[in-house]
Amino acid sequence: MSDGAVLHVKGRVLAGPDDVRDELWVVGGRVCYDRPAGARDITTVEGWALPGLVDAHCHVGLGAEGPVDTDTAEKQALTDRETGTLLIRDAGSPSDTRWIDDRDDLPKIIRAGRHIARTRRYLRNYAWEIEPDDLVAHVAREARRGDGWVKLVGDWIDRDLGDLAPCWPREAVEAAIAEAHRLGARVTAHCFAENSLRDLVEAGIDCIEHATGLTEDLIPLFAERGVAIVPTLVNIATFPRLADGGEKKFPRWSAHMRRLHERRYDTVRAAYDAGIPVFVGTDAGGTLPHGLVAEEVAELVAAGIPPTDALAATSWAARAWLGRPGLEEGAPADLVVYETDPRADVRVLAAPRRVVLNGRVVE
Ligand SMILES: [Zn+2]
Repeated sequence: MSDGAVLHVKGRVLAGPDDVRDELWVVGGRVCYDRPAGARDITTVEGWALPGLVDAHCHVGLGAEGPVDTDTAEKQALTDRETGTLLIRDAGSPSDTRWIDDRDDLPKIIRAGRHIARTRRYLRNYAWEIEPDDLVAHVAREARRGDGWVKLVGDWIDRDLGDLAPCWPREAVEAAIAEAHRLGARVTAHCFAENSLRDLVEAGIDCIEHATGLTEDLIPLFAERGVAIVPTLVNIATFPRLADGGEKKFPRWSAHMRRLHERRYDTVRAAYDAGIPVFVGTDAGGTLPHGLVAEEVAELVAAGIPPTDALAATSWAARAWLGRPGLEEGAPADLVVYETDPRADVRVLAAPRRVVLNGRVVE
């Protein structure tokens, strides 16, 4: 669009779960609810509009083998954009993707720096692999490099034990989380297991990724402290295949992964019922492809979360949690338009009619 051109979104604008409007204007790349005076060169988009979707667990610049080149990272971001994901919380990347901030045609990214894992206790080439004595220093560094988040690997297979086990002693995570908070960063951790959770939550962690090990005994503590979870159910769906692959060498781990997978929907539903904030994350970029946001929303619905709340988990609520605006007056016009009401059937998310980023219709 040229200067002075205006975008008119009409139909239903879902500005909030209970805030539905008939139309919205985009002027100078920003949301406006009054028809601009003297508007000319008007482009109209019709349908059901949501704020740009949020993928709260995504990795840009990361592939199955570790860091990827710039072209691949760009393709990842473009794939997310096509599916309406316009705000990403990057849950750990070994690549420097800061250049994306200068591109107003790519999704906005909130980075958690690079994963921090225990030595030989994570996927190769992904993380800083360190020992507990170095945890505070690494957390401080990633807090400064990132955009307000730090990512720990909280548990992983212990090959001697042949099962999942916590990666860090309690004192180390207490000191690390306190340091992150002192620097103004929130902390999240990858956790599959049950027994890594209590120390992290009592130490003040802000979010848990996957959270498959969340059980009845800890749910009230998560709820009371407002610790969010990002279940990444599209990733948990791969557990049976992982379990098959590890069966021979690590039968205990394999059986454990199967149990976590079997109860995944019950876990998410129990967390939701207890009032734990649940957000949409796809875990794209490691072993999973980008662009799975619609599938993850459908998975949350399959787990028993009502459609409007599953949508909130990738739109209104997720944006508020990350401190980014939705479709309020004056906000950057990042929105997705669908043919039908996504609250009636979230499957429409798989086929956006139009994606608008920074006020421009994405072709
Ligand atoms: Zn991940």
